[in-house]
Amino acid sequence: MPRPATIALDGPVASGKTTVGLRLAQRLGYRFIDTGAMYRALTWKALKASLDFQDQAGLARLAASTSVDLVWGNHGGRPFSVVVDREDVTDELRRAEVDRSVSLVARVPEVRRALVARQRDMALEGPVVMAGRDIGTVVLPAAQLKVYLDASPEVRALRRYHELRAMGIGSDYQDILDGLTRRDDLDSSRADSPLRPAADARHINTDALTLEQVVDAILGLVGNN
Ligand code: C5P
Repeated sequence: MPRPATIALDGPVASGKTTVGLRLAQRLGYRFIDTGAMYRALTWKALKASLDFQDQAGLARLAASTSVDLVWGNHGGRPFSVVVDREDVTDELRRAEVDRSVSLVARVPEVRRALVARQRDMALEGPVVMAGRDIGTVVLPAAQLKVYLDASPEVRALRRYHELRAMGIGSDYQDILDGLTRRDDLDSSRADSPLRPAADARHINTDALTLEQVVDAILGLVGNN
């Protein structure tokens, strides 16, 4: 059986998609595409332009007039940089302001249409692990393997808390939990491409699993696909 050349990885905030996706792609020799970084990149530009996040027409115009590219090559341990209109914004994308507003940008249908078209083009370039919220349902509905990662909000918030501490960023666990729940609610309730598992997705609950165990579980599915 040939390996699936397209792997869709979806799930809520801090479910491990990026860490797992990166490692999985490395083990398979595939490219990893983090679609969340693309929504974050547009959000960064909207913040810089002081756009009103309720102004959906303004956000749609912003998406139509902005180029968002993933450029392959090592960037602080990550395999790609995120470039907006030729400016490398990779280090800006995890800022709290971006976290707070990204779901308001991602709910705008024109924004999604622009980014989904880019994501589909990138998937045509070769074998890929693509992570996001709507990869199995909308972006790549024909993906040969779809995985939906989940964990309880408390476990996800705790992981994010430790991640931030390791990066030297002090933060409050309750704030992280509140922010994560709010973003999941917005992402799941929007009209266009809400967060939900594809009907044919394989579910993995990572509450009690380490990163390597999750990657091994997916590699098991790759082998049996
Ligand atoms: O994955 P990450 O947390 O970086 O994604 C940031 C935000 O981008 C999500 O909360 C969601 O609003 C949006 N997103 C999306 N569709 C995707 C990927 C991300 O709507 N495929």
